[in-house]
Parts: sequence; structure tokens; C-alpha cells
Amino acid sequence: MSMNKPQNIIVHHTLTARDTTTFESVNAYHKKTFNFISSLGFYIGYHYFITADGKVTRGRADTDIGAHTKEQSMNYKSIGICLAGNFDGEYPSDAQIVNLKSLLHDLAARYNIGADRIVPHRKYAPKSCYGSRLSDDWARRLVTDTNWQSLLNNPPSAQPQAMPDKVQTAKAQLLEAQTLISNVINNL
Ligand SMILES: [Zn+2]
Repeated sequence: MSMNKPQNIIVHHTLTARDTTTFESVNAYHKKTFNFISSLGFYIGYHYFITADGKVTRGRADTDIGAHTKEQSMNYKSIGICLAGNFDGEYPSDAQIVNLKSLLHDLAARYNIGADRIVPHRKYAPKSCYGSRLSDDWARRLVTDTNWQSLLNNPPSAQPQAMPDKVQTAKAQLLEAQTLISNVINNL
């Protein structure tokens, strides 16, 4: 029996709305279109699926042949990861990005896959997948860039400094109250 030999990691999007697309809906769709069951009992063509909340679900064992990239026999030599979403128009959630990063990191280490072989589906197929809003090196950069957090919607460095803001507001309010009190006293 033929088996998948992971030498590439191919990342996809579902081309459906990020926040409402579920593992079950894609699994049902692939059951209808491919009817190709995995050793885990699912029909979804990807090995891993990541919903908007960041949850990673396994659809196929890593050694199972995929049903996601038929070009160049990639289904026999790659791991397929799919993110729920249409990244021609929207952007992955931070939870998806963070969990994709750790999944890519783990898989690349486990199968000794170089970062140059972490690619979007469009490298092999004439489509936009994983979405035209994401650059060709977007997924790869999650693994290679020390500054990968800049790819988040809310990078830590861009988050507002909550405490100093609160202190400033409290100071302003105190000053306002003091002015009000002295005005009242002056008018007694
Ligand atoms: Zn794809």
C-alpha cells in the first residue's frame, strides 16, 4: 500500500467565510466530492484543519495520502494544512496564525522539511489559494522570522499601553475634581 512521504508543507484556505466554516462542513463536502476516507475515519483532504478560533483538527494521519494538491503528485509527498477562511478578501485570525506557526514548526522539525518547502497551494495549482491577501512567503515567515508577530492582526508591540493610559486618565480626572472643588469653595 502506498503511503504519503512528507517532504513539503502545502497551506490552503477554504475560500469560504472564516468565522463560520467548520471542520465538519469541509469533511462533508470532501466526502461528497472525493469519498476518500483517511485512516482516522475522515474524508477531508487535508491532514490538518484550523478553524477561526485556532483549533487544530487532524483529518488524516501524516502518512495518509492527501487529497488537496494533485499536481506533481504532491498528495503523495506533502502535508496539507487548511485554514478556514477566504483570504482573497479577509485575513486569518491571530489564533489561526499562532497555531499555524507552531504546527509548521513541529512538522518541519519532525520531517526535516526546509522552510523553502513551506508553500501556498498556488505554487502548484493555477488558483489564488491560500489567498491573494497573503504573500507567497507568508506561511514560511511564521517559521523563519524572529519578527513573525508582526504578521498578527494585533502584534504585541502595537497594542496600546493600557496602564500608563489609565494613569493619565486618572490624573486628568483628579485635576478636574480639584478644580471643581476649589471653584465651589471660592463661591461659598
Ligand atoms: Zn488549496
